[in-house]
Amino acid sequence: MIKIKKNILLIDQHDKNGLWAGKFGGNWVPETLKKPIEDLTQLFQKLRYDKQFLKQRNYYFDNYIGAPTPFIKLQNLTRHLGGAEIWAKVVSENRGTAHKIYNAVVHCLIAKHAGKKYVCGDTGAGMAGKTLAMVAKKFGLKCKIFMGSKDIKRQKLNVEVMKKHGAEVIPVTTGSQTLVDAVSECMRYWVANCLSTHLVVGSTVGPNIFVKICAWSTAQISKELKIQMINIFKKIPKKVKLINCVGGGSSAMGFWNEFMDYNLKQVEFIGVEAGGPKNSKLHAAPLTNNSKIGILHGAKQYVMQNKEGQISETESISAGLDYPGVSPLHCFLKDAKRARYTSATDEDALAAYQLVTTLEDISPSLEPSHAFAEAIKLAPKLSPSAIIVVNSCGDSLKDKFIIKKRLGSYIR
Ligand SMILES: *Cc1c(COP(=O)(O)O)cnc(C)c1O
Repeated sequence: MIKIKKNILLIDQHDKNGLWAGKFGGNWVPETLKKPIEDLTQLFQKLRYDKQFLKQRNYYFDNYIGAPTPFIKLQNLTRHLGGAEIWAKVVSENRGTAHKIYNAVVHCLIAKHAGKKYVCGDTGAGMAGKTLAMVAKKFGLKCKIFMGSKDIKRQKLNVEVMKKHGAEVIPVTTGSQTLVDAVSECMRYWVANCLSTHLVVGSTVGPNIFVKICAWSTAQISKELKIQMINIFKKIPKKVKLINCVGGGSSAMGFWNEFMDYNLKQVEFIGVEAGGPKNSKLHAAPLTNNSKIGILHGAKQYVMQNKEGQISETESISAGLDYPGVSPLHCFLKDAKRARYTSATDEDALAAYQLVTTLEDISPSLEPSHAFAEAIKLAPKLSPSAIIVVNSCGDSLKDKFIIKKRLGSYIR
């Protein structure tokens, strides 16, 4: 069995080929990208230990993004379900209304250090695109966002925000017209423009260095949470479950990182993938459904594919989870049995959204509603001494039209 090493950050537990556990991740890219990727790797390796850079990062995290985000007990939901205490880390309360802004800030800082004037990025639900557009504007960088045309339709509020912040939104009409195609198209653009443009991959996917930068950035979430837990409980409680939705896996990695790296065994990690519509075979849950290893977007991972190795079509109500692959870090955690992965259907997520917003004053988007669905399922089976924390990583406003259509009304 694969073992996680102690005292080394998970993001650094790869071999010289960039592979975790010898089989996930790597750099499966065209020859022309080898040099730009190597340059970026060296630059990041230098910057992540550079005092001045860390000061800059912390300045933006604290004063611009608004760290720390709240950690609150959901009393009404807890009472309603009877069982474990349910808490939420309300990451959506940050300036970007989702965790994507940590990655966007770090990448734009790196782009400035690299002397780049342009950034390009992919987006699914539009949160990576929106936050990159915001931060790029702030830093005086020109920004191009690649987005599938199906996602442009279902997340049009975010498209308007990206344009307002001066980004060029490029519709991707190939394949399923969702995130998977947006990432492909964005990487293709970068191949041709890598000298002038800094690539921002929107999740813990892509070639090795992009996985690392993204997980390093979102780790802010668990750094805050660990301090908040110790402040409230005086120590890390005995039985804790950290539940997070998993698309590419960047919010989950950020939510778990600090607890994993310090080897806190009493903390259990549960990742919830998109189970797709109820009573259909369609989904976006490669880990839950034991997909085979394949190569997608420059990295080896568990990826949904047919017998010939063609990437399968995915389906989910949440654009942010609608992706056939998953971070090599999560593949590693699954094989090491350090995290458990499951899925929630579209209907489960909608029901969870409805229950949470009826009982509490938070409004999770459809992605974290998948995580809430699992929390709602688990809580009644657990004792009141157990603590469940859900990462409410995105705000529901972007899903206004879908929620209104499916549930009859939307009030925020
Ligand atoms: C992008 C996004 C996701 C999915 O991406 P991860 O990398 O798995 O976190 C989930 N929730 C929200 C709100 C998002 O914007």
